[in-house]
Amino acid sequence: MPFNIIRDDITRVKCDAIVNAANSSLLGGGGVDGAIHRAAGSELLAECRTLGGCDTGDAKATKGYKLPCRYVIHTVGPIWQGGGCGERELLTSCYRRSLELALSLGCESVAFPLISAGVYGYPKEEAVSVAVETIREFLNGQDMDVTLVLFDRSAAAISRSLYDSITEYIDDAYADSHDDSAARMMSANSMAMGAALSEAKPQKPGRMMGLFRKEKGSKKREKNEAVPMMPQPEVLEEVCEEEVSLENYLASRDESFSEALLRMIDERGLTDAETYRKANIDRKLFSKIRSDRGYRPKKQTVLAFAIALELTLPETLSLLSKAGYTLSDSLKFDLIIKYFISRGSYDIFEINRALFAFDQTLIGC
Ligand code: ADP
Repeated sequence: MPFNIIRDDITRVKCDAIVNAANSSLLGGGGVDGAIHRAAGSELLAECRTLGGCDTGDAKATKGYKLPCRYVIHTVGPIWQGGGCGERELLTSCYRRSLELALSLGCESVAFPLISAGVYGYPKEEAVSVAVETIREFLNGQDMDVTLVLFDRSAAAISRSLYDSITEYIDDAYADSHDDSAARMMSANSMAMGAALSEAKPQKPGRMMGLFRKEKGSKKREKNEAVPMMPQPEVLEEVCEEEVSLENYLASRDESFSEALLRMIDERGLTDAETYRKANIDRKLFSKIRSDRGYRPKKQTVLAFAIALELTLPETLSLLSKAGYTLSDSLKFDLIIKYFISRGSYDIFEINRALFAFDQTLIGC
């Protein structure tokens, strides 16, 4: 996954380089710096002594020694002094310089702690914003796997107001889905009663309970033609809202997920690179999808493309159904995705921050 957020101890993360939130002496300290030195062993300090310190906002590299990474990139974050002393620019520079250094060392994967957000006092949510914005900008022109490793409560990954707004949306949807299921049970009961009554009085044949609107002049299905698998009820509700005809439904069933995806990319005039970057999808995975008509993606991958293509909710459900998935109002993950799509908010970095805040799997791959 080009951009990922995880909760872990950075000294255990396997990648080409991990970044250390060091102090300007580069001679070790507390927090993440202490943990990195302990895990790397004393040779790390010996090499750090040769570097002659480091300026705030800059970065220098050493080997990884006993750590499961080739390099440690030491960067010095700003001390928070209220925000008026260039802290944001300096913190941005820490991420940018570290990424440039990683690139020059040939690294394909880098992991960052939340620089300055410990002893140096940078407010956590703002520190996450600076990290995400700078990494996003860098990944716009580069293929690299960048992981932000957070140590504390996940909720700090987004603002309190966004967290509360999503929580309210989830609670409302849960409540509605329970009301709906009660209503469905009542209507199922009344249908069962109706069916019992109709046993005595046979109904006219050929009624499909209004599932599909039939278009004028549409062909009847041939006797031996396969009956399509019915989409899930949630998909069906959305599909019916769009007034999709049976004919169109059958035609669209012939198109595989990858064919539909490539068609939509073309229709929007997007390049492959624009699409996989917007979708937080690895270039190699995108090539695989492009070359395999029958590719079976993960649900997170389909949703990542739905976000990149800025699909509406019915369009998203239709793309999901091509890979055998749907969205449910009983799953927190699905509701968070719905929250963003229904607001026309298609920033995959923000969506992933929110998913992380709610301890859900991130999208992309
Ligand atoms: P700074 O002095 O730049 O604030 P700190 O080490 O005090 O650096 O904290 C930076 C961030 O690293 C904090 O969010 C802290 O929770 C986190 N942190 C501390 N130890 C680890 C670790 N082992 N792995 C990942 N993150 C860590």
